[in-house]
Amino acid sequence: MRGLLPLVLVACLALAASACRDSRQASGEPTMTNPKQPARAMPPLTAAERHIIVEKGTEAPFTGTYWNHVEPGVYVCRRCGALLYRSDSKFESECGWPSFDDEVPGAVARRPDADGRRTEILCAACGGHLGHVFTGEHLTAKDVRHCVNSASLVFIPQSRLGRALFAGGCFWGVEHYFGQVPGVLAVTSGYTGGQTDRPTYEQVSTGTTGHAEAVEALFDRDRVTYEALAHLFFEIHDPTQVNRQGPDVGTQYRSAVFTLDEDQKRTAEDLIGRLRAKGYAVATQVEPAGKFWPAEAYHQDYLRKHPGHPICQTRVPRFDAPPR
Ligand SMILES: [Zn+2]
Repeated sequence: MRGLLPLVLVACLALAASACRDSRQASGEPTMTNPKQPARAMPPLTAAERHIIVEKGTEAPFTGTYWNHVEPGVYVCRRCGALLYRSDSKFESECGWPSFDDEVPGAVARRPDADGRRTEILCAACGGHLGHVFTGEHLTAKDVRHCVNSASLVFIPQSRLGRALFAGGCFWGVEHYFGQVPGVLAVTSGYTGGQTDRPTYEQVSTGTTGHAEAVEALFDRDRVTYEALAHLFFEIHDPTQVNRQGPDVGTQYRSAVFTLDEDQKRTAEDLIGRLRAKGYAVATQVEPAGKFWPAEAYHQDYLRKHPGHPICQTRVPRFDAPPR
């Protein structure tokens, strides 16, 4: 442990010039995005699923699992687990395939189909074939129909969805780590814990709005627990630093867990207690979650969009390390 800390510190300082303090151009309204992370340990495809997802086949209408499925929840990619659609965008089109009039922003890629007429839709994260998208049918107010093979989707009911909010310095790195966790469906960088509505990056950067750079993780509670995510959180940033993480200084970079219920609060406090028992002077604030404001689009999935960009946060196995 003692040997590792200096290495981490040197690594972080070496990255200071190009870390989260880089100039960040402003852009557009806050937008929820899909993390577009690599595979999340989904089960292997069956031959029938491979025919559709890899070989771009089409299941027969009125035969799939979800063509007439109506239940609150979300639909993720069968191959990689990425969040694709929310149930409130699903509608009955009577075409025999699941139909959606909107996607999770950034989750679905489009390209001309090999037939020269239609537009193919694919999972933006893994390239798996989903189906086709149509416009001009006037079936819903949005006038869009994603015609998706059931075999390309896995439904997760609302009752299994969990949400977690953490602030651990620059949100690019925190988002990166949580996006790698099997069972995490979507990760969004944003701002919370402040006083103003719809804060911009520039406003938060002044340190006067009270917001922290934070990450919202949506997860499948059957595949990963809140405790596992909180455990990870305390190992991917330095919870002993006060109002800073490495080169990023200011209350917007504070360490905080924003809890949504008593169980989350108890879990966070238990983990902090374990770290303190090991000698860590944990500065992490545990406070009730307020409104989470997604950050500007250019902050979302930043490290995947900028390969080779350094990550300041480094994972340190604090819970398994001997007492300090
Ligand atoms: Zn996928």
